[in-house]
Amino acid sequence: MHSITLWTSLLFLINGYFAMEPIILIHGGAGDIPQNRVKGKLDGVKVAVIAGHKILAQGGSALDAVEAAVLSMEDDENFNAGYGSVLNLRGEVAMEASIMRGEDLNAGAVTLVKDFPHPISIAYKVLTDSPHSFIGGEGAKLFALDKGFTTVPPESLISENAKNALEEFLQHGELGRTEIGMKNEGGVGTVGAVAIDKYGHIAVATSTGGMSGKAVGRIGDTPLIGSGTYADDNIGGVSTTGHGESILKYCLAHSIIKLMENGTDANTATKEAVTGMTNRLKNTAGAITLSKNGDVGIYFSSKRMSWAYIKSNKIFYGIEHNQILEDEYRPS
Ligand code: ASP
Repeated sequence: MHSITLWTSLLFLINGYFAMEPIILIHGGAGDIPQNRVKGKLDGVKVAVIAGHKILAQGGSALDAVEAAVLSMEDDENFNAGYGSVLNLRGEVAMEASIMRGEDLNAGAVTLVKDFPHPISIAYKVLTDSPHSFIGGEGAKLFALDKGFTTVPPESLISENAKNALEEFLQHGELGRTEIGMKNEGGVGTVGAVAIDKYGHIAVATSTGGMSGKAVGRIGDTPLIGSGTYADDNIGGVSTTGHGESILKYCLAHSIIKLMENGTDANTATKEAVTGMTNRLKNTAGAITLSKNGDVGIYFSSKRMSWAYIKSNKIFYGIEHNQILEDEYRPS
């Protein structure tokens, strides 16, 4: 055997031996989710986590995997992202999304997006194709058009549930509490995904319609790097959901990362930071976390949060406190 072939085979073996097990962990939003929305959310997170895992299983990147999982939930009206996003006070959809790459801390985010079905893909383009990290409103639209995205009529993103949720909010809502819009038929949630690929690279994506009855122009935590999303290959990745104004004041995603950087494990860090935010600011949230070693952290202080992850040929998922359901999974 030529020595070059020998070396190539050896490198291949070493790479195979040390390759990480790819993992994807997602959430479908925290809040006071009513019982009649539970099944749709559990079904939706299972479909989305498989969409993301397929990419990882084929050797794809963590970034592509988190985008695929979030796209799946943006298309699913069970979630408050893309189609089915909640409405602002003027009855409009105004979406926000962010995505971050842990290898080089590069990030892309968009806000106040009104007429594109997949804000996460525009955020991804900001990450790869823009000198900036965060673009909003008209600028985000111009950027997206320039990169070849096509608009849809804004009304086509509005679901019946979202209209009902706004109605309910206008009659009984208390501004500033995410859960208010979630007590009724329109109870939906922000979506997020954290993945680690076989090369050990971490990526995180989060996408939302915000909160029902929000002011025109309101920007929440989801597109803010450090609040809604954070990824660092040297530490781990976090996506958050819940009361946006509280999450952004507390920099929730980065608070969890800091705890892990100082030696706290993923699960404890997630629980400590979410509880800390809720104690300090009296509003609820949830977060999902992966450490650089693939340890999982899931915690929410709200009534419910749907989540799912795939690890070791199993899908784990749940929505209630202390609930871990499990299905066999064989990547096809
Ligand atoms: N964090 C989102 C926001 O306030 C809402 C949510 O996660 O449900 O915009």
